[in-house]
Amino acid sequence: MSAGLALALSGCVEGTRAVGEHLKRKAAVPAYPDAPPATITTDVDGGPPLTLGAAPSPNPGPPTLVWSGPSAERQIALTVDDGYCGDCIVKYVEFAQTSGIHITFNPNGVFGTLWAPLANSVQEMVANRQVQIGNHTWDHANLVGLSSAKIADELNRNDEWIQRTFGITSRPWFRPPYGAYDSHVNDVAASLGYTRILMWNGSFGDSTVISPQQLISLAEQYLQPGTIMLGHLNHPTILSLFDQIQSIIQERNLDPVTLDEMFGTSRTTG
Ligand SMILES: [Zn+2]
Repeated sequence: MSAGLALALSGCVEGTRAVGEHLKRKAAVPAYPDAPPATITTDVDGGPPLTLGAAPSPNPGPPTLVWSGPSAERQIALTVDDGYCGDCIVKYVEFAQTSGIHITFNPNGVFGTLWAPLANSVQEMVANRQVQIGNHTWDHANLVGLSSAKIADELNRNDEWIQRTFGITSRPWFRPPYGAYDSHVNDVAASLGYTRILMWNGSFGDSTVISPQQLISLAEQYLQPGTIMLGHLNHPTILSLFDQIQSIIQERNLDPVTLDEMFGTSRTTG
């Protein structure tokens, strides 16, 4: 990978720096519900509705790094991380609702108060298999160099929040914060059932603040068959560009899918 590509593809550069800023604001947002979500039954796209609130047991195995999907099909996977911009979360969820586009969110539970008002909306799309939730650790820790116990705590705490809030497990999908992994991180994650270590081969470049022109240029460059596209819920640049991004997807006859749909994993078996 060239240095320029690596820069454009970098993930979550500003992630932890803004956590403190976010936490100062969180008192204004209601806490997330303690009770497990109820079963939701609505019309579905691609199978019967999922029963929420009953997570399967972990299925440990060897770890596999996942960088891209099959390029012989028209599928793309939009994968959107973090969440220290509450307005970004609200508008991304609205975009999913109004467009019907399939998305995988990889949120950090430390921002749970920002997700709480949207929990019911997200649950409905989760039950309909339109939205999937992956594990991105509780507080966006760089896991390289941490003890096995600390790595496990980051993953388990976040999945417990995901189960409580959205009614499903994130297993087997784990995106390491900053894309930072080594064999120890991957082995600990896989021993907990996170056997798919999620990387990416395309990016909106919005882990830092960029211009709308830069973001659309990256969208045009990377939205191709088989792309796992990295986006972030941290900066508002994307919020005025949803129509343009949807147009690129439609003009190229691309099929946005969840990771389950791209790789045949399952919320039912984890
Ligand atoms: Zn991140």
